[in-house]
Amino acid sequence: STRQSVTVIGLGPMGQAMAGAFLDRGYDVTLWNRTASRADALVARGAVLAPSVKDAVAANELVILSLTDYDAVYATLGPAEAALSGRVLVNLGSDTPEKARAAARWAAERGAVHLTGGITVPPSGIGKAESSTFYSGPREVFDRHRPALEVITGRSDHRGEDPGLAALMYQIGMVMFWTSMLSYWQAVALADAHGMKAADILPHAVETANSLPGFFAFYADRIDAGVHTGDVDRLAMGKASVEHVLRTNADAGVDTALPALLVDAFRHGMDAGHAADSFSSLVELLKKPAA
Ligand code: NDP
Repeated sequence: STRQSVTVIGLGPMGQAMAGAFLDRGYDVTLWNRTASRADALVARGAVLAPSVKDAVAANELVILSLTDYDAVYATLGPAEAALSGRVLVNLGSDTPEKARAAARWAAERGAVHLTGGITVPPSGIGKAESSTFYSGPREVFDRHRPALEVITGRSDHRGEDPGLAALMYQIGMVMFWTSMLSYWQAVALADAHGMKAADILPHAVETANSLPGFFAFYADRIDAGVHTGDVDRLAMGKASVEHVLRTNADAGVDTALPALLVDAFRHGMDAGHAADSFSSLVELLKKPAA
């Protein structure tokens, strides 16, 4: 048969969206999930729920994993070890680069190939042409399965053979995503303390966030050149500013952990003698944290 087929293991919001995208493209989709009922809607659309995880792995060469972390991967694939030989395991769940490297070795010991993936979009972005995923692992295996992988996100970026690379790129994005979202929750809490709803500050929040790429671009070249001159901003100014942020949040009676962390970071920079340098000099301190 010329029909294309794939196995998807893990049916949280992401795995469900992936399986749905494959069904939309006419793939034969085999599913497995610890909680079987999460497959119901997909089975109604034509997917097949395997009777065991071993059957799910045995069904197709290409096995997509969408689980919480590698602990969940090992817990899930343990009973399927005997079926792993010859399989291509593509893990699109989050974890560390080190865990991805260990998993690639674990797979190889069982005759399987491991590709690491890092998806940069939420479930609503799955199946979309403009969405993108980082991959790493054997290039030839990636190239062979690229058409199927690009059903999940229309664009893919193979970073190299090292299985840790895709996880690293994913985590580089996530450290920004989580801290940025926490900064937004902080802003919403501060606004709420003054009777404003999230919707009231949305335009201001969006404009503030949209200003950030300009800062990234401006500082990237200077940081790479080791230039932290205080010609456009000085750390001493920044320290005064983040103290105003801390004070404003404290006065409002909202949590101050995040603003206090900012003040700490800027104070470290001042103590290290960077008062007259740009606040980009904090990068140097982040690279070499005090013991
Ligand atoms: P979850 O992280 O909630 O993944 C849930 C899946 O993992 C379910 O299938 C769940 O099974 C399974 N699972 C968890 N622990 C175990 C275990 N010990 N044994 C067996 N199965 C287990 O949801 P998402 O779908 O949102 O995310 C999947 C991965 O994708 C995560 O690593 C996440 O970080 C990443 N990701 C998520 C994005 C998002 O926006 N949601 C975006 C990009 C990446 P059960 O149904 O039985 O509970």
